[in-house]
Amino acid sequence: MTDQPAPGSSQESPRRDILALRRLWPFVRPYGKRVAVAMVALVFAAGAVLVIGTGLRLLIDKGFNGDQPQLLDYALFGLLGVVALLALASYGRFYMVSWLGERVVNDIRKAVFDHVITLSPGYYETMRSGDVMARLTSDTTLVESVVGSQASVALRNLLMFVGGTVMLFFTSAKLTGLVFLVVPLVIGPILVLGRRVRRYSRASQERIADISSYANEALQSIRTVQAFNHEPADRVQFGSIVEAAFATARKRIAMRALLTAIVILLVFGAVGIILWIGGHDVISGRISAGELSAFVFYAIVVAGSVGAISEVIGDLQRAAGATDRLMDLLDQRSTVLDPPQPVALPLARGEVKFERVTFAYPARPDTSALHEFDLTVQPGESVALVGPSGAGKTTVFQLLLRFYDPQSGAITLDGVAIDKVSLADLRSRLAIVPQEPVLFSTDAWENIRYGRPEASDAEVRAAAEAARAAEFLDRLPEGFKTFLGERGVRLSGGQRQRIAIARAILRNPSVLLLDEATSALDAESEQAVQQALDKLMVGRTTLIIAHRLATVLKANRIVVLDQGRIQAIGNHAELAAQGGLYSRLATLQFDQTRE
Ligand code: ATP
Repeated sequence: MTDQPAPGSSQESPRRDILALRRLWPFVRPYGKRVAVAMVALVFAAGAVLVIGTGLRLLIDKGFNGDQPQLLDYALFGLLGVVALLALASYGRFYMVSWLGERVVNDIRKAVFDHVITLSPGYYETMRSGDVMARLTSDTTLVESVVGSQASVALRNLLMFVGGTVMLFFTSAKLTGLVFLVVPLVIGPILVLGRRVRRYSRASQERIADISSYANEALQSIRTVQAFNHEPADRVQFGSIVEAAFATARKRIAMRALLTAIVILLVFGAVGIILWIGGHDVISGRISAGELSAFVFYAIVVAGSVGAISEVIGDLQRAAGATDRLMDLLDQRSTVLDPPQPVALPLARGEVKFERVTFAYPARPDTSALHEFDLTVQPGESVALVGPSGAGKTTVFQLLLRFYDPQSGAITLDGVAIDKVSLADLRSRLAIVPQEPVLFSTDAWENIRYGRPEASDAEVRAAAEAARAAEFLDRLPEGFKTFLGERGVRLSGGQRQRIAIARAILRNPSVLLLDEATSALDAESEQAVQQALDKLMVGRTTLIIAHRLATVLKANRIVVLDQGRIQAIGNHAELAAQGGLYSRLATLQFDQTRE
């Protein structure tokens, strides 16, 4: 395949604010009871703190004037009771809220993964998979911190702020009036700087996605990287991406630090001045010492809650951005969808028909990768597709697998248009053996079972034997249980192919899509692969992207493709006799030595 992912566009939506967090609600709602318990605990904890202030006033005004010493005892018991309630409520809140955070974020991870794994390959041409990974890992972590702590911190502090303010009014309306003159002074900078913090957070998140997508690509192609001595260049490039991420993060941190400093300065400065005024009021007897103490206590509670809110507001905004990005992913609709009322495919025969199919890739809308492509493949027939690089051979496979839908024309399998069939039903009739087989980082059992997850061990072994894979798998240190390494790097090219063939045998498809390896295998491996393929092809419709003369000689028909158009159809002798593109290809392209 020649498709290269286009440079990432991160598909930003323009509006991102704290309200985006609303979209988390559907994930929180199923745990409504726990939310309710957490809320009750939260209210109790906040209430307990506020009661302490009133206790303080009573204690100072009544307990310290000597005539009622038992009040001190009551105050102590009262305080212990309140503190016990506070501890219990805090336990409940912490446990429930943290539990919610973990639960919700894992539900989101599942929902996002379940969704993105169904998006058609076309989507991943415009979206880097590293971006999707970053969203699944770091964005979900941000969301977790909100649901699992910051939301409750914000809420608790909001309650403290409201409760504290009410108590302030009751304690001294005059002083509180002064406090409220100061509030706009504090809120103003928070809003302005908060917006900047949010902007930098978003940029910071994007730079982190750059890091993971670069590292991902380099590590996945480690052999190419090292074979080309590309490590120094990669180091430099990765270094500059990391530094860019750091620089962006530094800007965000600087802004946050400034925000915090300004809030502290303003809040505590104002509290100091108000205290000074309050002190004079006590001296002149306008309020009692207990009232001033309670006032100070509540002022600290209110100031503390404003400080805490300004701290978490940045995090909430960051998480709002993360939520938005996650929900963006969930909103993505695949360009290839299951029909609303799928038609069942008839009993498998394996007739494949392309009728005047024209298709251009979404990334290149004005060049047709296939133009008026017409081909009927009879059940059991083998058809070789040949043509120069970029002729459209792989595209034929991609369309039959319905990774894309053609712009015009129809593709049918056993007489049913493939877009009328459910994707699962369609693909269950097909098996592909790709040029570069994809193995997963697990053992041979699971890699072969990939073809049909419900297959028994005996069936997997039989498929491996038919594919001539059992003979080398049995010689591995732990036989079929041997871990094959990430993407199968511990196997040779021919061995990987035999695993892929075993997988296809297990799948037992009616139509086989074979993309022949272009790289030469050693003679023995080649012969084993060929025998495995011959077995696999018996009685099945086979479309082969052919690179070897032996294959085209065996095929029932050969389709010569050039620039998305069929140039000729026939068998080897007919086509060779016609001269033209095929005979040029036959002499130049087919590796005749490997016959
Ligand atoms: P090769 O033998 O080199 O694999 P091919 O015959 O299989 O070539 P295709 O992969 O089918 O060729 O490509 C047909 C045309 O479509 C080429 O011009 C190619 O550049 C283009 N093409 C392939 N994949 C994409 C894609 N994902 N986005 C845009 N254009 C693509």
